[in-house]
Amino acid sequence: MNMKEKKKNKKDKKENRKGENGYAHADDVLLELEEDTDREREREIVEELEQIGKKELIKRAKKFAEKFRVTDGKDFRLKDFDPKDDDGFDSKDLLKRALQTGVKALAAMQEMLYAQDQWGVLLIFQAMDAAGKDGAIKHVMSGINPQGCQVSSFKAPSSEELDHDFLWRCMKHLPERGRIGIFNRSYYEEVLVVRVHQELLNGQRMPKQLVTKDIWDERLQDIRNFEKYLNRNGVVVCKFFLNVSAKEQKKRFLDRIEDPDKNWKFSASDAKERKFWDEYMDAYEQLIRNTATENSPWYVVPADNKPFARIVVASAIINTLDSLNLKFPEVSDKKRMELQDIKAALLAED
Ligand code: ATP
Ligand code: MG
Repeated sequence: MNMKEKKKNKKDKKENRKGENGYAHADDVLLELEEDTDREREREIVEELEQIGKKELIKRAKKFAEKFRVTDGKDFRLKDFDPKDDDGFDSKDLLKRALQTGVKALAAMQEMLYAQDQWGVLLIFQAMDAAGKDGAIKHVMSGINPQGCQVSSFKAPSSEELDHDFLWRCMKHLPERGRIGIFNRSYYEEVLVVRVHQELLNGQRMPKQLVTKDIWDERLQDIRNFEKYLNRNGVVVCKFFLNVSAKEQKKRFLDRIEDPDKNWKFSASDAKERKFWDEYMDAYEQLIRNTATENSPWYVVPADNKPFARIVVASAIINTLDSLNLKFPEVSDKKRMELQDIKAALLAED
């Protein structure tokens, strides 16, 4: 029985004993014992995670991430993905420690990516407001050497940016070989916010005859081709849609309004965009259908439980890096001999 089933079982038991007052106490004791066993099991999971080798960890991360990966969007339906899904893992401590283990593995893999200096990795984060993009980026990349990583945020385009084709501003921020580039929003906004608010197209100063009803399909096709081009040039692309529910977003907005330290995170326009929820979801469904491919997959990350979402993201990145078959560059015999000579010279110094 997994954690989720266990919890449901417990809830059912509680329901069943309503009205059986005489037995309530004994049942409560039993339930408490079960909860202790759960905590014990959680501790075991953490210990196990901390002890398993790197290979095993990568294997588990890959298997875990698979459930959320979309590589062929043809039949994709957003409603098949539950924003609340967390496999019953709602222990913050367990999730935090599992993430620490993942972050350590990521840091080691990034070092190899950097040393090998062949592949670039582009991670794209898309989501509705308050879904946790910033937090996911901050936590998952916390162990990464900042020299090998750059984050670019794409907000409403400037006048200069609007004077160019829609990929232009993102192209300037693509990661170099050996680096990880993170896009906090991206060219996908062109088939999201711009699709939901079509009047934005007027500001893009496109020739009139090019703005037809086919424009969204054309943009999706251009994005697919662009990502294929990147793949063929040694840039792997991995995309995350942090799938938060409307209900959880409302709760987070209210938190941001209530808590003075979080006020800065909230803007009136966030609440305005919320009114277009269904339109955004349609746009997300369309874009995942059209741009999820084997080489540039989408991960639909359940985002109502933030710590769980971060583990899904970390696992997906581990999976992506592992697929690159990273190795430290081999040192030639000549270079090794050279190093030995230098070592001898250094040791001979007084
Ligand atoms: P946060 O709100 O968590 O600070 P954010 O990514 O939502 O982060 P904002 O300052 O709200 O940052 O700005 C992003 C806004 O810019 C979003 O509403 C987004 O839809 C909009 N945007 C991004 N790209 C484009 C685009 N190409 N055209 C029009 N609007 C865009
Ligand atoms: Mg915002």
